[in-house]
Amino acid sequence: MEKEARIYVAGHRGMVGSALVRKLQSEGFTNLVTRTSAELDLRNQAAVANFFAQEQPHYVFLAAAKVGGILANNTYRAEFLYDNLMIEANIIHNAHQTGVKKLLFLGSSCIYPKMADQPLKEEYLLSGFLEPTNEPYAIAKIAGIKLCESYRSQYGSNFISAMPTNLYGPNDNYDLNSSHVLPALIRKFHEAKVNDQPTVEVWGTGSPRREFLHADDLADACFFLMEHYNDDLFVNIGTGEDVTIREVAEMIRDVVGYEGELRWNTDKPDGTPRKLMDVSRLHAQGWHHTTDLRRGLENTYQDFLENEVMYVE
Ligand code: GDP
Repeated sequence: MEKEARIYVAGHRGMVGSALVRKLQSEGFTNLVTRTSAELDLRNQAAVANFFAQEQPHYVFLAAAKVGGILANNTYRAEFLYDNLMIEANIIHNAHQTGVKKLLFLGSSCIYPKMADQPLKEEYLLSGFLEPTNEPYAIAKIAGIKLCESYRSQYGSNFISAMPTNLYGPNDNYDLNSSHVLPALIRKFHEAKVNDQPTVEVWGTGSPRREFLHADDLADACFFLMEHYNDDLFVNIGTGEDVTIREVAEMIRDVVGYEGELRWNTDKPDGTPRKLMDVSRLHAQGWHHTTDLRRGLENTYQDFLENEVMYVE
């Protein structure tokens, strides 16, 4: 990408989009195009068409999505499917219409079948049934991959897709009903420490395994792929290492400095038992993550302490 190129970061207020903006700015890109959801409703076909016709971005990072943890995905099933389909279809189609040079679409590791072999190789897509709690979100993300592949094969558009593993970092969602596990536990342990509570409720059995990647590492990988990767095969982005929910819960308790007990609430769902990414395609391209989980959690807890008022309003 040329330093003066007009780069649209869709979803720049979110955890991934804001990490992409920080990365692009640190690399000297100054011509970034952004819109808040109040300024541009990405589900609105006419509004997105107007926006692309006016702004004519050269490059697009598609990090806008309706996202959430296991409870939100399972509760707002219609919005997770509809909003994400509309956002992707509008952006990818209009990127094609206005001749965007390259687009990177971000999916998710939940696109893979629930019972797929581990680690998850890119070729396992559509080889089995999905995890029911996030099936609508996964179907929307699979549609996004197929949109990129189809515009590429029919029109030669340089649209690529990347599938990140579970993410965490600054600007995460700390709302306990819609957040993912790491921000939820950072907040719960922190509040329990401050309020001297003897126990903290943790969901499920603790036995599912998850892989976690810091958002700054993800942004770095996306930038790397935008600069170097032009293939039609999508690419997993992760660390290639996972931990049990119990292990990560204990690590967070330690980082926060909470001394009480964990109380496992097995009325809450475990979700998929494991979703470890096979990252050999990414490693073969020459990219590797740099933030280990413990250090990433320490820096995320610091960020939480500095922005708590904004995060838990
Ligand atoms: P998932 O990766 O799509 O399943 O999404 P989550 O990050 O929401 O959940 C990951 C795992 O953490 C699941 O097994 C949850 O049951 C478990 N978990 C434990 N405590 C919590 C919590 O307080 N919030 C959330 N969201 N998940 C939790």
